[in-house]
Amino acid sequence: MRAIGLVRGENSVQTFDLPKPEITQPDEVLVRIKEVGLDGTDYNVVRYGPDMAPDKNRMVMGHEAVGIVEDIGGDVKSLVPGDIVSITVRRGCGICHPCLHNQSDMCMTGLFKERGIHKLDGFLSEYAVDQEQYMVKVPREMKHLAVLTEPVSIAEKGIDQIRIIQSRFPWTCPHPEHDFKSPDWGNCKTGLVVGAGPLGLLAASLLRLAQVNIMVADIVPDSHPKAGLVNYLGAKYVDTSDKSPRELMEYCEVHGGSVDILFEASGAASTALQLISYMARSSIYIMTGIPRDELNLNIDAGQVIRHMVKNNEVVVGSVNSNRSHFEKALLQMTRINLEFPELCQKILTDRVKFNDFQEAFTPKGPKFIKTVIEVDPWD
Ligand SMILES: [Zn+2]
Ligand SMILES: [Zn+2]
Repeated sequence: MRAIGLVRGENSVQTFDLPKPEITQPDEVLVRIKEVGLDGTDYNVVRYGPDMAPDKNRMVMGHEAVGIVEDIGGDVKSLVPGDIVSITVRRGCGICHPCLHNQSDMCMTGLFKERGIHKLDGFLSEYAVDQEQYMVKVPREMKHLAVLTEPVSIAEKGIDQIRIIQSRFPWTCPHPEHDFKSPDWGNCKTGLVVGAGPLGLLAASLLRLAQVNIMVADIVPDSHPKAGLVNYLGAKYVDTSDKSPRELMEYCEVHGGSVDILFEASGAASTALQLISYMARSSIYIMTGIPRDELNLNIDAGQVIRHMVKNNEVVVGSVNSNRSHFEKALLQMTRINLEFPELCQKILTDRVKFNDFQEAFTPKGPKFIKTVIEVDPWD
């Protein structure tokens, strides 16, 4: 079968032939891959070099996959051939308790592997085999959007973390029914999402579904499609190209209110770090963007720590997602599709055929948001 990936010692994405994977264990599932989404992690794999297993000389790329079950092992219970599945990314270390209890996203040892990112082949190939536990069944009517399950699951996990951690409070507004544990938790709250890329837009849509008053900041002008999608969500777009982190937070305070939830989805390290100094009292700041380059800043460390301690602030990192987040993501995508029917298709700006894969890794036009490689296009 054909695959798209990287060869050790070479820095360009290429196609190569691999044997078609086979089911060798009774709990395994063979999937014919339909679509694979690309994100910043994939571009970084190309830019900084793949994190291959030591005994391998090439790595198949791609970690956001949707496919059709082609065959199943004898012990597989939840899937049958023809089912549509989204596949999770991380494979636990097999040692720590989170990994042993279906929370490899919270691995304690760091000895996990990730398909298409860290030591394991990804999904940019005609077929993939993996265990049933990593396959999440997709409702048939969601198949055209299911390639977004992984990024939605990342946003879902981030919001999950926010709700768990902020449950340290009783309700923060006059309404007990708006506490972070309740289904109506998002009311009377304001959020700022930094970064209007796919993850930022999806996080903003989930927060809007929860009734959070949302602002989304990015450096593109108001005329950019990203800004248009922010407005479409009923959120307010903030162009930060001419604003310092302090000015951004002051602007938000005036135009949206005190920011209870800061969701960082840009990976722009300098702004991300400086924003800590301007967090609102008792607020939470979740970071999901991963900067790669070294960056040295001159900051007043005393001021930052004073600010955090005296205001009971939380800064938390959130990476990866587990099966439960994929399942929640698929439920939420049904809601997103009802409430914001144009969002998902408009995020998927660039659809590239398998044979034209080089286009997916070349610099993007001004209207670009996200690329999908059609390994085997839907009918
Ligand atoms: Zn682990
Ligand atoms: Zn309230």
